[in-house]
Amino acid sequence: MPPDAAAPSRPAVSFEFFPPADEVGEHALVTTAERLARFAPAFLSVTFGADGSTRERTRGAVRRLRAATRVAVAPHLTCVGAPREAVDALAREYWDAGIRHLVALRGDGAAGDDRYAPAPGGYAYAVDLVAGLKRIADFEISVAGYPETHPEAGTPAADLDCLKAKVEAGASRVIAQFVFEPETFLRFRDRCEAAGIRVPIVPGVLPITRFAQLERFAARCGATLPGWLRRRFAGLEEDEATRRLVAAAVATEFVTRLEREGIAHFHFYTLNRAELTVAICHALGLAPEARADASAPSASVAGRA
Ligand SMILES: Cc1cc2nc3c(=O)[nH]c(=O)nc-3n(C[C@H](O)[C@H](O)[C@H](O)COP(=O)(O)OP(=O)(O)OC[C@H]3O[C@@H](n4cnc5c(N)ncnc54)[C@H](O)[C@@H]3O)c2cc1C
Repeated sequence: MPPDAAAPSRPAVSFEFFPPADEVGEHALVTTAERLARFAPAFLSVTFGADGSTRERTRGAVRRLRAATRVAVAPHLTCVGAPREAVDALAREYWDAGIRHLVALRGDGAAGDDRYAPAPGGYAYAVDLVAGLKRIADFEISVAGYPETHPEAGTPAADLDCLKAKVEAGASRVIAQFVFEPETFLRFRDRCEAAGIRVPIVPGVLPITRFAQLERFAARCGATLPGWLRRRFAGLEEDEATRRLVAAAVATEFVTRLEREGIAHFHFYTLNRAELTVAICHALGLAPEARADASAPSASVAGRA
């Protein structure tokens, strides 16, 4: 049966942004979010600077996104560089402003600082932050998961135990680090299921804008870049138009394969750019016009009625 024949339900999507550093970036953030809002995302999220440095900018971006789109916004919060009181105060401020969903993370040290150390008087790990936030208010909490295992974890099993502890502390969704092999994500989902982690495991989708930039990201978080992916982008460094076509094809193959496996929510790392994410949402049939079209009877069926 063709996929639209029974007007099937469409997957949910959410979009991640980073807080811009200047006015040009702020404009790009708002226009990107406005373009993406038409896909009726479940939420938008805003990252917190790697060393906890963007507290004010994250707050500002959250405010702007809420005003521009009226979509629920989930700020990221990390344990890094602040005592518990400061993290708690920010969480209370968010709650008082009507924010009900947070993405709770440990965070990393500043660039060049490869060993993580908890801040004096701070939350040590994401699990501690989740428990602390739940004591403040009944936030909906998403946490990070690692299909290829977090680089500092002793073993994959220990990493999964850590993920389970975050869910037991109150997280209700896992957003996965990006991967490019659908099977890698599916194995992770199955391992979570087998470990008794009973919350949605949402794949993180990273549309590729520049391969060199992707290599840096991947090296930092220990993500594998498969040989077939390198081959597809080889020689396209100076050919942006073709690169975008290839990137849209790669991400579309990834999401459609996972959709066939029953994945019902995709989280996009937008890097504050709309174009590729818009293309992939169209491929998922998420345009409002496509939804209306799917729920209307086809001409031949209507003719027979
Ligand atoms: C969806 C997503 C969004 C992100 N957003 C941001 C962001 O906005 N800002 C940012 O700075 N970073 C962000 N990150 C990166 C994240 O902060 C790093 O990957 C960080 O190294 C780990 O964060 P975590 O919350 O997974 O940590 P944790 O869940 O605390 O795990 C970190 C490591 O410690 C181990 N561990 C956990 N608990 C214990 C314990 N009690 N004892 C010993 N070891 C333990 C785990 O196995 C793991 O190896 C994001 C990552 C993802 C996947």
